[in-house]
Amino acid sequence: MHTEIAAIKKNDFSFYDIQKIRNDFPILKTLVHDKPLVYLDNAATTQKPQYVIDKMNYYYENYNSNVHRGVHALSQKATEAFEGARIIIKNFINALGKNEIIFTRGTTESINLVASTYGRANIKEGDEIIISTMEHHSNIVPWQMLCTEKNAKLRVIPINDNGEIIFEEFEKMINEKTKFVSIVYASNTLGTINPVKEIINLAHNYNIPVLLDAAQAINHLKIDVQQLDCDFLAFSGHKLYGPTGIGILYGKVNFLEAMHPYQGGGDMISKVTFEETTYNELPHKFEAGTPDIAGAIGLGAAIEYIEKIGLENIAHHENLLLDYATKAVSDLQGLKIIGTAKDKIGVLSFHFENVHPHDVGTFLDFEGVAIRTGHHCTQPLMRRFNIPATSRASFGMYNTIEEVDVLVHGLKKILEVFG
Ligand code: PMP
Repeated sequence: MHTEIAAIKKNDFSFYDIQKIRNDFPILKTLVHDKPLVYLDNAATTQKPQYVIDKMNYYYENYNSNVHRGVHALSQKATEAFEGARIIIKNFINALGKNEIIFTRGTTESINLVASTYGRANIKEGDEIIISTMEHHSNIVPWQMLCTEKNAKLRVIPINDNGEIIFEEFEKMINEKTKFVSIVYASNTLGTINPVKEIINLAHNYNIPVLLDAAQAINHLKIDVQQLDCDFLAFSGHKLYGPTGIGILYGKVNFLEAMHPYQGGGDMISKVTFEETTYNELPHKFEAGTPDIAGAIGLGAAIEYIEKIGLENIAHHENLLLDYATKAVSDLQGLKIIGTAKDKIGVLSFHFENVHPHDVGTFLDFEGVAIRTGHHCTQPLMRRFNIPATSRASFGMYNTIEEVDVLVHGLKKILEVFG
């Protein structure tokens, strides 16, 4: 085991200038309890590079103005930057057109939009919607609310003890009553990367649309929506080294065209009288009110930054960290890794036999290490593993092997104190 760890340490990291990357993130110089911050809570939210912060500040300092409505110079510049961000995002996920990219507040709002519009119009009594055991609450509750309203049924694909979807169960579950499939691409709690292409192919054999919750996949896997052929895709800017408060719903144009607006108000209309309203064209039909202009600009900047480093390089680096950390904690007494799928993103969830996750998190905080403890908004998944919570370290592009060492050292100390 230790030779394996040493081998990873010796691995050629030359594809990646980690120090330069770390210097781009001002927050990484922060001290916590007089110790250097070791930020391992990237699945909750990622830190922001100076480039993103500067782009947003520049907007506020130099051309802050509302979009789409003004003929004056600042408004035109703001509109250009806002719509420019949409094109960056369209290219990033290889959507067919920029009218398929809807700005929302995040993954949660994107899923709620689809459930409230497509779902309300198409789900009827007795219909079935399929999700999986490892969904985040934001990919459970909107569908549950819809099912309650329509007297429809929510069906859940079971997982095995490694935290992988049991595909044969999905095959058995899907039938002519199934009207929608909504699946997480990569689990925030287990790290599992799901076989989404196979899921989409099977659902499409039955003509069933599929939504992918890509909140955790978007910063690790190259996503090509045309190649995947997903019908909807949701993600958040803040997990992608961009700002909070902005996210994306991608939808195939034929679905979006047919869907009713989500909210009414300014910008989503083309003509309003007191008798009736005609709606604006896509994507504006789904963007009522003043959008998060700085957020969109920040998200566009985050993608530019990621592309400069290369998503594949980032994923390779995070995989090395995960591999190293997994091996390093496997020796710790009473520690059980929750989520041992073959294909994983950089998420390491674990549970100590005799130490409550909350104590683990608090102890590590005093070492400067930020991890997350709790149910990670996946309570049904906790129930599946028969545990109340896990401790979760999640890796980002700026984390180092030395930081993993600090984490493991902290865990060893915890065992000394609590063991
Ligand atoms: N789905 C997954 C898999 C997530 O990890 C998260 C965030 N933890 C969400 C959905 C919700 O994202 P947001 O809170 O940004 O809307």
